[in-house]
Amino acid sequence: MPFSTFGLNPALVTAISELGYQKPTTIQTKAIPVILQGKDLIAAAQTGTGKTASFVLPILHQLSQAQTQKKKRIRALILVPTRELAIQVDEKIQQYAKHLPLTSLAMYGGVDEKAQKQALIDGVDVLVATPGRLLDMYGQRAVYFEEVEVMVMDEADRMLDMGFIDDINKILDRLPSDIQHLLFSATLSNKVRDLAKSAIPDPFEISIAANQASKANIEQWLITVDKDKKSALLSHLIKENQWQQALIFIETKHGAAKLAAQLEKRGIEAEAFHSGRSQAIRTRLLEEFKAGKIRYLIATGVGARGIDIHELTRVVNYDLPFPADEYVHRIGRTGRADAKGEAISLVSKDNFKNLCMIESRLGHLIERREVAGFEPKKPVPISILNYVPKHKRNPQQ
Ligand code: ADP
Ligand code: MG
Repeated sequence: MPFSTFGLNPALVTAISELGYQKPTTIQTKAIPVILQGKDLIAAAQTGTGKTASFVLPILHQLSQAQTQKKKRIRALILVPTRELAIQVDEKIQQYAKHLPLTSLAMYGGVDEKAQKQALIDGVDVLVATPGRLLDMYGQRAVYFEEVEVMVMDEADRMLDMGFIDDINKILDRLPSDIQHLLFSATLSNKVRDLAKSAIPDPFEISIAANQASKANIEQWLITVDKDKKSALLSHLIKENQWQQALIFIETKHGAAKLAAQLEKRGIEAEAFHSGRSQAIRTRLLEEFKAGKIRYLIATGVGARGIDIHELTRVVNYDLPFPADEYVHRIGRTGRADAKGEAISLVSKDNFKNLCMIESRLGHLIERREVAGFEPKKPVPISILNYVPKHKRNPQQ
């Protein structure tokens, strides 16, 4: 089924084909018609399956049907958890709206407000914002909500994990009540459902299982290794396999800086990407990584959501994340849309609990490989797939 069958504005169809999209992904096929009908929707599909276009395209179509740009009056609002994602979603909007006279703005904290305020005065149709900065600007009367026709909560699960629930509810309270509400998430946890229930009493629901999400092939495997050998193993893998690029995830800022230094000692240039670095530096690092100028980027969790690199073939989990969904999000950085990807985790004995939870979440064990010379002295046991963390165990059972 081609994109032209949705009845979208031809300017959008042209922009999509210029981007090289051949056909809609599963979530796009299901969500676009529902949104075009004006229905409220909650939708779940794995990371990297094209959720952004599945709400941006119908929204741009609807906005293109009437032109009513007013100062400080936005017409569509997209809430996102992080600055990086705000920038990324806004980039997509600009690409899709290339042949339409619609404007958009990414609004997030940590940078000067002036430029954002001026853009709102000049007129913004679609505002992509993080909750905190949005409330701040609303409080300052830099943005008004009465012309809003549609709002989106993107990566709702992540926003809740990051503690934005109160901010989101405040925003929902201030928006006109008769607008269209859309919620997108990688997972529909109970927390996400509760949030949806209060704002969207009777939504249309789409949930696409991981195995039919048309998520391109991500080859996953793990290497068992002792904790103190991880950085030597990583250097070995980079050199031995001549990896062109890798996005390497690690738990702490300090760990990221230390690992970058350790790699550099072995002649591998790497950069650390975390919330301790300024927004300007993070933006530059991402651009250089996308352009291939930086080959190895070591990121903490904050990097996981915003990074969308078309050709990224490899994600490395230097540590295993908690909770398990975070693993799914991380490996979703690779194998986006049609590309192939690989996700490699370095697992030591102290990662065993997280490994159990991740493999239980996946519903299968991850293939194990050992690398000669790095066989662990402390072996990592095989996971119990129905593992339940202690605090969630029911004492009656
Ligand atoms: P998600 O929000 O589900 O994690 P994104 O919306 O960020 O995924 O999309 C992931 C990547 O897939 C982006 O690079 C996007 O440009 C690309 N993409 C989206 N839809 C299509 C499509 N129909 N065909 C090819 N590539 C697509
Ligand atoms: Mg997304």
